[in-house]
Amino acid sequence: MQLLDLRGQLDRTSQAFFRFRRLGPERTLITNAEGRWLILSDADFAAYATGAVVEGSELYRRLSDGNFLRATWDEAKARDMIAARKQFLGYGPNLHVMVVTLRCNETCVYCHASRADMDATHTDMTPEIAEKAVDLAFMSTSPSITIEFQGGEPLVRYDLVKHIIEYAKAKNETAGKTVEFTMVSNLSLMDDEKLDYLLEHKVQMCTSIDGPKDLHDKQRILPTLSAYDAASSWIEKINRAYVDRGLDPSLYHVEALVTTTKGALGRAEEIVDTYAALGCRALFLRPIDPFGFASKTAKMVEYPRADYLRFYAEATDYILELNRQGTQMIERYAAIFLTKILRGEDPNFLDLRSPAGAGISMLAYSYDGDVYTCDEGRMLAAQGDQTFRIGNVFESSYRDLVGHPTVRAMVIASNLDSQPDCVDCTYNPYCGIQTTHNHKTQGSIFGRMRESNVCAVHKGIQDYLFGKLADGEPHVLEAFERWTTVRAREHFLHDGAGSADGDP
Ligand code: SF4
Ligand code: SF4
Repeated sequence: MQLLDLRGQLDRTSQAFFRFRRLGPERTLITNAEGRWLILSDADFAAYATGAVVEGSELYRRLSDGNFLRATWDEAKARDMIAARKQFLGYGPNLHVMVVTLRCNETCVYCHASRADMDATHTDMTPEIAEKAVDLAFMSTSPSITIEFQGGEPLVRYDLVKHIIEYAKAKNETAGKTVEFTMVSNLSLMDDEKLDYLLEHKVQMCTSIDGPKDLHDKQRILPTLSAYDAASSWIEKINRAYVDRGLDPSLYHVEALVTTTKGALGRAEEIVDTYAALGCRALFLRPIDPFGFASKTAKMVEYPRADYLRFYAEATDYILELNRQGTQMIERYAAIFLTKILRGEDPNFLDLRSPAGAGISMLAYSYDGDVYTCDEGRMLAAQGDQTFRIGNVFESSYRDLVGHPTVRAMVIASNLDSQPDCVDCTYNPYCGIQTTHNHKTQGSIFGRMRESNVCAVHKGIQDYLFGKLADGEPHVLEAFERWTTVRAREHFLHDGAGSADGDP
């Protein structure tokens, strides 16, 4: 009888499934499978861990609301949140990267794309390959697809970019998907005529700014002019064009990416100021990747990830301070994690989800018609490693590609519940790993997370964010809420099948 009473007591106060991580004195983070979280004091964590939470107490209420107690555990609440987080699994590939050429007029020290010289015309995609690639993209079961132009420099083959846009739009008259076009460009080959066309056809533009002019021009070299001047002048012009078209500049602007090199460390505030001066509202503080030329120039550009995390914290602290003073800017890594942490939604960033998007949410079409699971897969192929080649536009059906054994293996390897370290990690509900990165750096798509640079970055950034959430400064919490408010950029959507979306 006494034993039964004890069991009843344990059931009411003992833990449902949880993971924990100590963030510092009086701060232990607990998370559960669906991604709810709490930060507990040492006394509260001890009570929880030993099943000694007093029923009816404030701690009991917090734990119960978070679905952390066995007695009040709500299966439907857990299931619905997991289903919302994994919504992306219901669709086929959404992102289709088209490498229209490897040629590029710029020379970047870390070029991940393994660019080719301007006379290497054999690295251009043909119109036949482009049409086959678009045909495959439209086979996707996803109701919306994004065609992303990459290179090399895609403006080298502006004629082919136009051809793809027009071919895809004609195809969409019957397919009826929602289509977006994006272009990753250094912008130096832009001119007014090209810009008019790209604006008319609602192509989103994305470029790279590595920081102040001296840093950018040292890392990204154009033969006759400053790469920074070229990119920044077009950023300003394009952003003005959006305003002239009546579009909200906080939503419509050129997206610019930072590639954080050794030269950037220690210059966090200058880099943020450069972006603010250009009117860029978002920074993505990406660490350097080991793909392409970056593997050859590692001595010049690489650094320990602890140094990166110091840089990240310094830059993000400064962005938060600018927010407090009224300059609205976001850091994209933080926004991705916080959307999962604070809203329970997944923004579907393909390298930061479980399972990752390679092959099931994206495909990359190289200039020669070969198809890869992802952009990094084709970058590795450019260096002679064909591991992630899954077919060719002339030989492979859509089913051959998405059901390829390599795609299946990558899905298993990037499922955090099948990763030895990730399965126990407190950050499991919000995180993601990169199988291509594991393969390149550790020789296996599974990798070993405790020695992985990607894991170190993800863990460090989440430590930083949860530290801020625990500090609870009102201006930081308010900025974090804003960073996770997703506003659709409907201007960029093209709807087919007779819709009146006002497309030219
Ligand atoms: S990173 Fe881009 S712009 Fe720079 S060399 Fe490579 S392809 Fe060209
Ligand atoms: S990658 Fe690292 S931080 Fe992310 S879930 Fe796995 S072990 Fe945790």
